[in-house]
Amino acid sequence: MSTSKTLNGSCLCGAVSYCVSQAPSQFYFCHCEQCQKVTGSSFAANLIAPVDSIFWQTGEELLTHFDHPSRAFSKTFCSLCGSGVPHVNKSKTSLVIPAGSLDERPTIEPSANLFIKESPEWLPKGLSASKFNAYPDNLNEN
Ligand SMILES: [Zn+2]
Ligand SMILES: [Zn+2]
Repeated sequence: MSTSKTLNGSCLCGAVSYCVSQAPSQFYFCHCEQCQKVTGSSFAANLIAPVDSIFWQTGEELLTHFDHPSRAFSKTFCSLCGSGVPHVNKSKTSLVIPAGSLDERPTIEPSANLFIKESPEWLPKGLSASKFNAYPDNLNEN
């Protein structure tokens, strides 16, 4: 296992931690309706790496895996805090790494927005809305 390309990640509560031993080959945002549901947000940010590159360091027994019964869609999450962590896709061809679960900067940058037609109409407005470095005292007054 190469240490130079290892990426470390973990869930929100910290019980699950992992490393990815091979550099991801793709990084994209997916705006499909399934990704909106599963993230509870406007899109998923995922990296793709080889299936055999995942090593669970802690909390593997806490992982819960979901395969959509009819669509090519899967998710693995920490059963304590619900955070998405890497999973092997339903067709077992790729490891899908939720970018937000990484504890360090990935080696590549996002290169595509998928299923953009399914993106919620409020996303562009939200991305150009007022920006704050923390939760502001006067958010409701804006
Ligand atoms: Zn957790
Ligand atoms: Zn998607």
